[in-house]
Amino acid sequence: MNVLIKNGHIVDPYQGIDEAGDILIEDSKIKEVKTRSTQPGAEIAEQISKSEDADIRTIDASGLLIVPGLIDMHVHLREPGYEYKETIRTGTLAAVKGGFTTVCCMPNTNPVNDHASVTEFIIRKAKQEGYCTVYPIGAITKGQRGEELAEIGTMKNEGCIAFSDDGQPVMNSTMMRRALEYSKAFNVPVISHSEDLTLSEGGVMNEGLISVTLGLRGIPAEAEQIMIFRDILLAELTGGRLHIAHISTAGSVNLVRDAKKRGINVTAETCPHYFSITEDAVKGYNANAKVNPPLRTGRDVEAIKEGLRDGTIDVIATDHAPHHVDEKSRPFDTAPFGISGLETALSLSLGLVREGVLTKNQLIEKMTLNPARILGLDKSAFRTGSEAELVVIDENKEHEVKAEMFVSKGKNTPFDGWLLKGVPLMTFSKGKLYEW
Ligand SMILES: [Zn+2]
Repeated sequence: MNVLIKNGHIVDPYQGIDEAGDILIEDSKIKEVKTRSTQPGAEIAEQISKSEDADIRTIDASGLLIVPGLIDMHVHLREPGYEYKETIRTGTLAAVKGGFTTVCCMPNTNPVNDHASVTEFIIRKAKQEGYCTVYPIGAITKGQRGEELAEIGTMKNEGCIAFSDDGQPVMNSTMMRRALEYSKAFNVPVISHSEDLTLSEGGVMNEGLISVTLGLRGIPAEAEQIMIFRDILLAELTGGRLHIAHISTAGSVNLVRDAKKRGINVTAETCPHYFSITEDAVKGYNANAKVNPPLRTGRDVEAIKEGLRDGTIDVIATDHAPHHVDEKSRPFDTAPFGISGLETALSLSLGLVREGVLTKNQLIEKMTLNPARILGLDKSAFRTGSEAELVVIDENKEHEVKAEMFVSKGKNTPFDGWLLKGVPLMTFSKGKLYEW
């Protein structure tokens, strides 16, 4: 397949490109990239022109944004074990539709990815059926039970690129200390789902006035912050590599900011729902707004944005957590936590650029370069000779979110019916072009 994409605005944080340009793709590899300044008065540089007889499809990308394939370092693909919620096939299709060409899947499957045999299964299945590249994240402890460390070294050799007991926080501090010691020895990040279960127990939403009004058990911000603080202290003690998952509170942003200032090896992510909506979305007992950590207050949303702006928060990930419609239809108290996030993440995140929170380049960094660095992935994007992994985005196209149209099996989104701006039009992933 030969494609010439002309006159797009290329933003590539890997190579520091933020210019207009043309990209020629031959046999699904980057053959040539030519960029030119978008500044008025700049010299008109040479463009790539196709030879008359060549079998090349030309795409006019005037007014469109071209970025490297996005990386989502926090998804739940549910396979093996929960194929009724999502599969590697449907989850990676949702990823590609959302502009992601690389996803990292959490280990809370059945069986748990706590053994090289499960890692091997996921990688093999993803090679056969996956629309994008999948890197598994291994469990920190066997069965995510928090009692005994999993075989981190063996699983790393099999292909796990990080370790986490996401969904089941490591409550035992000694266990977390050991995990961080391993992370240093094996040079892999440990991803902390920071939640003190003794404080959050029974909670289903943010603790505050709204939880009282609705008569629902609340989860205080401290349940998250106490564990982030503990893990920062343990990272300091061990020199291990700590990554904090899905930050949701103002206090958490402050803790990570201070730790970074003190030179501790910590990075952090947040998700689009934590900077787009508040606990208000829960009103009416909307189980599609039930997520863990819970949606917080307007003050927290502002602090998350500030954390993104000043670099405290390195990464935007989705925490894509698909569930079956029957599960989310249960009463709020018993419905499972989670949002199906892959197909709305980019649109919601582009809102940060329009609001002036991030520049376009900073946003794309948080969805490409930064996760690649944290995970040690060698991504080359638009370097000549590398496989084409890119997304063509129309930043101005408005579209209504229709959950029933999601290609993910999980239709659980609090954004159903929202009018969003900015949408991926084309994704090159694993050598193929997908158009929407
Ligand atoms: Zn989590």
